[in-house]
Amino acid sequence: MAQYTVAAGCGHTTSIALFGAMTERERRLAWMRGPDGKCNSCYAAAKRAEEAQQSESLIATYETQLRRTLTERGMGADDAVLVLAPQIADAELHGRGGDARIRAARRIVAEYTGAIAAGSGESI
Ligand SMILES: [Zn+2]
Repeated sequence: MAQYTVAAGCGHTTSIALFGAMTERERRLAWMRGPDGKCNSCYAAAKRAEEAQQSESLIATYETQLRRTLTERGMGADDAVLVLAPQIADAELHGRGGDARIRAARRIVAEYTGAIAAGSGESI
């Protein structure tokens, strides 16, 4: 193992411990110094942003599927909330409140309860 100080492509200078074959170390250092290279903090931030983007895409997919299912079953906003709210509560109770399917359901319930409060629940 060796400690390297690298001026990464992101603009930060970082200290990194690398071990293993020299060719792999050099490949990693070259990437870090390159235009797309990132220090560990920027790499972690980029990874979190990528995961958030994927998560958002997954939630949107589930939301579309769920809306389609509700429509196919002829469920109005009132019925949809009555079906979805207990499922959301159960998921939260069991520590699954952050799951993409539950987050999609929560968005629909939030929208529908807003519509119900506005008096247009049956027209959705
Ligand atoms: Zn950085």
